[in-house]
Amino acid sequence: MKLLSFKGGTHPLERKELSSDAHIKRVEPPEIVYLPLSQHTGAPSKVIIEKKDEVTVGMKIAEGDGKISVPLHSSVAGVFMGVVDYPHPLGEKKPAMKIKVDHEKTGEWEGKERDPESLSPEEIIKIVRESGIVGMGGAAFPTHFKLQPPPDKPIADLIINGAECEPFLTSDYRLMMERTEDILKGVDIIRRVLNPERIWISIESNKMDAVEKMKEAASTYPWAKITVHATKYPQGSEKQLVQSITGLEVPDGGLPFDVGAYVQNVGTAVAIYEAVRYSKPLYERIVTVTGSVREPSNFLVPIGTPFEYLIEQTSGVIGELKKIINGGPMMGIAQVTGEVPVIKGTTGILIQNEEEIIPGQTSACIRCASCIDICPLNLMSTELYKFISMDNFDRAEELGLLSCIECGTCSYVCPSNIPLTQYFKYGKAMIAKRRK
Ligand code: SF4
Ligand code: SF4
Repeated sequence: MKLLSFKGGTHPLERKELSSDAHIKRVEPPEIVYLPLSQHTGAPSKVIIEKKDEVTVGMKIAEGDGKISVPLHSSVAGVFMGVVDYPHPLGEKKPAMKIKVDHEKTGEWEGKERDPESLSPEEIIKIVRESGIVGMGGAAFPTHFKLQPPPDKPIADLIINGAECEPFLTSDYRLMMERTEDILKGVDIIRRVLNPERIWISIESNKMDAVEKMKEAASTYPWAKITVHATKYPQGSEKQLVQSITGLEVPDGGLPFDVGAYVQNVGTAVAIYEAVRYSKPLYERIVTVTGSVREPSNFLVPIGTPFEYLIEQTSGVIGELKKIINGGPMMGIAQVTGEVPVIKGTTGILIQNEEEIIPGQTSACIRCASCIDICPLNLMSTELYKFISMDNFDRAEELGLLSCIECGTCSYVCPSNIPLTQYFKYGKAMIAKRRK
């Protein structure tokens, strides 16, 4: 079988076997959930209820503010205690809606059923926005906006991303194993909005059972083609996926639709299906909790559940807890507290104990060029690092800093342990700040 691939990339230790057999398990909500108003790319949502109001599961509690924003829905039944400044998994404290949970009234979703075939593309886009759907692969970009590419950029290739290349994480894998048909039904809805020429469902070669399952289910959806990709990081990045399927490179600063492609995660396809078919807003998601825990798991979690509560559900940490990471080891963000809540873009929580942390001293660059050889974007990492260290952000921008997808591959291979990706994140943030 020919495996599709892309230039550059690396092969980090996967460790997916820790949680890959753990079936998706629904988690009962904690006593309190914290729903940050900022869970997506774009303007934060605006609160539309009053303190002490009663809320129900799936009730809209904050409105999207502008075109690139989405509403927020309660993940539990209970009482709204007000907006508080609360730790956010993407850093710092941010305003969050605090809800005291009423366990008696918190049940599963019971919504109005609809026939997706009776809806126009415009009606589907409206439902997707009203349901608060964002990209579930981590980027959390509002899906209704993404479903409206510019009219002069028709979509030839719709790519459904089931690559899940980030080590340790298995939430997309479990979704493909357990909700195969729902993914395809969601893709069918996206297909009807975008009207693409071709549809690809893309999975890495380390998940062949998911490939087989998807192929079997796709036999009744003749438009769906399953592509198998080399297991290589960062295969699941949009630009790399587009390149490995179409052979086309998304231009610097461009988006997949610039080359006629559109990428959506498998989890987003299911969220779209649930919203359109069952009127279910996005208020819960699958989260892998893995690493140095006794029972690595894939949980179906009410959004707003604190990380530390989920860690308890895995029967606890093995050894001494040293690090909590939001996401996987390559692109994840280390947390200062386990109080941070699951948000719409939380794909996993990785726990590291003292044995998992490899102390490494940073030393001077030895000009080995490993970081340049493996960069999937062909970036001159050493030059970017040099100019950002000198606060010369203009030069770093000229060298393509803004194209960096922050995949972490260069940091991973650097023998001098230079945190290159952190420099690049910092450089990009400084450029964004200056523009603002
Ligand atoms: S983090 Fe940026 S510079 Fe480093 S390998 Fe990834 S894309 Fe290239
Ligand atoms: S990998 Fe590290 S040591 Fe090698 S050239 Fe890049 S920054 Fe320098």
